[in-house]
Amino acid sequence: RFPGKGLFMAQAASSSAPRSVSPNPAGWRLEHSYAQLPALFHAAVAPTPVSAPRLVMLNVRLAKSLGLEAAALAGEDGAAIFAGNQLPPGAAPLAQAYAGHQYGHFTTLGDGRAILLGEQLTPDGARFDLQLKGAGPTPYSRRGDGRAALGPMLREYIVSEAMHALGIPTTRSLAVAATGEAVWRETPRPGAVLTRVAASHIRVGTFEWAAARGDAAAQRALVEHTLRRHYPELAAADNPARALLTAVIARQAALIAQWMLVGFVHGVMNTDNMALSGETIDYGPCAFMDAYDPATVFSSIDARGRYAYQNQPGIAHWNLTRLAETLLPLLDANEEAAVAAATEALGGFAPQYQRHWLAGMRRKLGLFTEEPDDPALIEALLIWMHATKADFTNTFAGLAPDLPPGDPRRSDGDCVAWQERWRARLGRQAQSPAESEALRRASNPAFIPRNHRVEAALAAAEQNDLTVLERLLDVMATPYAHARSAPGYRVPAPDGGAGYQTFCGT
Ligand code: AMP
Ligand code: MG
Repeated sequence: RFPGKGLFMAQAASSSAPRSVSPNPAGWRLEHSYAQLPALFHAAVAPTPVSAPRLVMLNVRLAKSLGLEAAALAGEDGAAIFAGNQLPPGAAPLAQAYAGHQYGHFTTLGDGRAILLGEQLTPDGARFDLQLKGAGPTPYSRRGDGRAALGPMLREYIVSEAMHALGIPTTRSLAVAATGEAVWRETPRPGAVLTRVAASHIRVGTFEWAAARGDAAAQRALVEHTLRRHYPELAAADNPARALLTAVIARQAALIAQWMLVGFVHGVMNTDNMALSGETIDYGPCAFMDAYDPATVFSSIDARGRYAYQNQPGIAHWNLTRLAETLLPLLDANEEAAVAAATEALGGFAPQYQRHWLAGMRRKLGLFTEEPDDPALIEALLIWMHATKADFTNTFAGLAPDLPPGDPRRSDGDCVAWQERWRARLGRQAQSPAESEALRRASNPAFIPRNHRVEAALAAAEQNDLTVLERLLDVMATPYAHARSAPGYRVPAPDGGAGYQTFCGT
């Protein structure tokens, strides 16, 4: 099944394999609960050392929250660890096995270029996966080189940290190390390794993997492990599989609503890219929408728009249906009863998603109360935005009961009519205009990682100039700071971002 396996084992055992260092000034506290799962879920494999490790990014605040001493990681030791040349104390590297539906088609996958070092225990008792992405081949690499290019790894760093600052559950980025080696994509690109931090890397695809092997005992172990890690309050549930399914559906309904409310397009919502923790994971061809268009697609390979902005809730439901299928044997010994239980749980997705989305939209409009006509009020605004190609982020950030004198929207009859309707609606709640404005400001970001800004930062970084990237990260760290003066970060690309494409050649 994994033709590269024999080759790789020989390589891992050679003298060039990374060595573990014993003093621990950085404060590593690695455990390995995932490795306790049955053997079909993982393969021990060490990162492949690189020729010239150099630390490009280190997320000092994240390091601190993980209980890691950034100062001890900023130099050569950190570069060696984050490039995969040296293992931190207590590491037990492995690649995770998983399957998945890619663009609707089932395949077996696994970490083809990612290696889990272990789970860091934080000072406040939390547990986070530390994973090196781009650290060399694994038994699951298939035809891939196991490597990653600097641009896409920095892109994941920027967007994941921006999502975190927006308050959206997400994996995070601890470090990027350049390898000093070229990776061959369309052209040779500088190589890099990203250190990803995640509540876990357990995916819908992990469950699909056990189900495809027909291993019910392994599936049961995975359910229990996932519950312990992400839903400990449900560990004693009568039917663990059912409890897990219901809880995951609830978290995904909340997560996808948050994406929709900021105009985020994930771009590749394959089942292997949906985490059971409810975090956003696997930043590939993702981007934030500029002009509002529900059909927005960025990924160059998503020709049919399967993962378009407006399809995301439906795709999440589709993915969760695949998860439910893997759990059928555990939901009930009686097949009909199992299908009924799965159907009932899945039926909870749409109403929960709608509830989160509507509540979020009310906040974006500065509404504290609920009126039956609110969905129509929101719909009317979205129709106007679509018709006028209004910028999604700036339209919401700029909402004000009175359009400023000279605003071109004053001569747009539809806009003026909507403004009047909204003003009347605001007048029917007890909260003051100032309270409404404060709610809007806390709910509508002023800053999102605009595509042209991200591209400029990556282009400069490839030329060894990190100042553009640092400035972008600094602005993205305060997305709701409406008073902040950073005008260049508020405007979409001069051409409106039309035709912006993101590539899977990561
Ligand atoms: P993604 O589209 O990033 O979710 O990746 C899909 C699958 O392709 C995963 O199993 C990855 O590990 C694998 N993959 C992506 N790039 C590479 C690469 N350069 N080498 C080996 N495997 C890869
Ligand atoms: Mg993936």
